[in-house]
Amino acid sequence: MVLASRPRGAVLPENFRLETATVPALGEGQVLVRNHYLSLDPYMRGRMSEAKSYAAAQAIDETMIGGTAGEVVASQHPRFTPGDRVVGMLGWAEMGVADGNMLRKVDATSIPLSAYLGVLGMPGMTAWYGLNHIMQPAAGNTILVSAASGAVGSAVGQLAKLQGCRAIGIAGGPEKCAYVVDELGFDACIDYKGGRLAEDLAAAAPGGIDALFENVGGAGFDAALPLMNAFGRIALCGLIAGYNGDDMAVRNLRYMLTSRLSMRGFIVTEHMDLWPQGLRELGELVATGKLKYRETVAQGLAAAPDAFIGLLSGRNFGKQLVRLI
Ligand code: NDP
Repeated sequence: MVLASRPRGAVLPENFRLETATVPALGEGQVLVRNHYLSLDPYMRGRMSEAKSYAAAQAIDETMIGGTAGEVVASQHPRFTPGDRVVGMLGWAEMGVADGNMLRKVDATSIPLSAYLGVLGMPGMTAWYGLNHIMQPAAGNTILVSAASGAVGSAVGQLAKLQGCRAIGIAGGPEKCAYVVDELGFDACIDYKGGRLAEDLAAAAPGGIDALFENVGGAGFDAALPLMNAFGRIALCGLIAGYNGDDMAVRNLRYMLTSRLSMRGFIVTEHMDLWPQGLRELGELVATGKLKYRETVAQGLAAAPDAFIGLLSGRNFGKQLVRLI
């Protein structure tokens, strides 16, 4: 699936094009992989655009960038043999050739392969890194996380709870909020579509908010600012409400000053040295059932554009994947 054109505003199906290509012969050190799952992630919207960002724009007519999990079919690399389960960045494609050094071998016998694209992959690491290294909450702190039922947000709240924090989420709709509280164990979850965002947030955080993990921006972020306690910390992880170009005006900026808040934007790949530790800790928590996750799985490469469009409007419930086999 290639990028056919750059979206203006909302992403449309015609921004993508499905193509057929011949599998190339393997060179020294290369591995041929059949992808079982493709990860769909909000950052892909940024790569579709030419606006200045932390990474270069995706080229037109080239395979859409993306994380993949699959099975080695053939290998010219000493570390891989056919049948190995691997995670890589092979993009929106059923098969792909990768430099073996860019693949991570994973154990899919006790943990499903798909989890390595979510809670045990980049989104899980984003939650772990943002919480532990940017927010740094203390036990007893109240933390707030937006997009709380999603791949990143769901892990943030659960990890915070395990550290003795009070966790509040914001999510879209009663079903997602019920899941966040009943299944994931957050203390509260506010439905931002319920029409009483500021009042409901204030009621859920009577002692204020010590640290905020911001995934969305827009109205939820604005409603959280007045509730932040003095010297509160904000981990700015994502602004998905604005990725399609919608207005992101912040009316409550003055609370950054009066409450003397700190806000730090971060990109999870800025500290690759921390990934082995983070993935090990997340793996133990998933294996012992202390860290739960949920997936929405679209079937087949042709379904990927619509699933991606849905991710940018909240149609997904948990980690959005595409199954390719
Ligand atoms: P999610 O699984 O949370 O899916 C996206 C969710 O965002 C949707 O389900 C929806 O939840 C919410 N959403 C979508 N569109 C809007 C909108 N217009 N307004 C409000 N909410 C919306 O995705 P991820 O967990 O993968 O990513 C969450 C955030 O983290 C994103 O902003 C992403 O860019 C960011 N991120 C940042 C990284 C970094 O390194 N800084 C790395 C990975 C992710 P709901 O229905 O509840 O509104």
